[in-house]
Amino acid sequence: MRVVFWGTRGSIPVALSAEEVSYKIRTALLAARGWMLDDDEKIRAFVESHLPFAVGQSYGGDTSCVQVDCGGPEYMVCDLGTGLRNFGTEVIARHGPRVANTFHVLLSHPHWDHIMGLPFFTPAYIPGNRIIVHGCHADIEQALRTQNAAPHFPVDFSQLRASFEFDRLEPDRPVEIAGCRVTPKKQLHSGDSYGYRIERGGKTVVYSTDSEHRMDDPAEVEEIVAFFRAADLVIFDAMYSLAESVSVKEDWGHSSNVVAVELSQMAGARHLCLFHHEPAYDDALIASVLAETVRLEKITRGERPLRISAAYDGLVIEV
Ligand SMILES: [Zn+2]
Ligand SMILES: [Zn+2]
Repeated sequence: MRVVFWGTRGSIPVALSAEEVSYKIRTALLAARGWMLDDDEKIRAFVESHLPFAVGQSYGGDTSCVQVDCGGPEYMVCDLGTGLRNFGTEVIARHGPRVANTFHVLLSHPHWDHIMGLPFFTPAYIPGNRIIVHGCHADIEQALRTQNAAPHFPVDFSQLRASFEFDRLEPDRPVEIAGCRVTPKKQLHSGDSYGYRIERGGKTVVYSTDSEHRMDDPAEVEEIVAFFRAADLVIFDAMYSLAESVSVKEDWGHSSNVVAVELSQMAGARHLCLFHHEPAYDDALIASVLAETVRLEKITRGERPLRISAAYDGLVIEV
């Protein structure tokens, strides 16, 4: 399976400010003193291997949208956050606007940051395209229709030219979608959210966002560990650093990097990808949460190492 992260930010899309861009350039130029960087190839190699990611690149600011490629002709994305816009642009660039495609959506929940990309998804305006929205909430269709209705948006849902289907899933019941076996799992979050365990050919990807994991409830821990069991990749809502999650932001419906490591280790997962980054965090702060998480994994490592990464817009992981 191939996983493409189109949007990785939580709650609201964010963009780099002029000052943040200026700071990156100043820091990079300082680091480049003494280097002979006289062509594009040398500059690219310097940026990629000598600058920290938070200086040379950026985690990006689009909200949740993750493509999971199961090898078949039909597309599958988890959530419809603003990252969906770039995904749509890429699909049209690849096939041209006249080729009809089928898109499967696994919706975690209809909170705004997880649906706000749909009005800007160009394939939704093209006749012949088929969009099938799978999810466990009863009110998904209504949420999408309301988002497109006046006075919120100029184009009513009824004017979208793609065909829409809504497929109500049941928690814990596996279904076949786009050549993968998909199992939804109910998670603790305001209004509920659902994680998805996606399996194909002996490989497993778990998409688990907007979920507050309570480590003090053994029954819940056991269920989540079973849900993450031996996954090749766990995409995890680690919105807060531990200090925040145990103080001011307890009960806000999200988890921390520490809980992410603990649950992934208990489940014997191979790769943990921190996701749904806090919009107030800049690139340096996300990088420091990643570094803290990598250190924690080393200290607490059991028999099998757990690979840790932080998702960024444009990241591709082959599973
Ligand atoms: Zn969210
Ligand atoms: Zn939410």
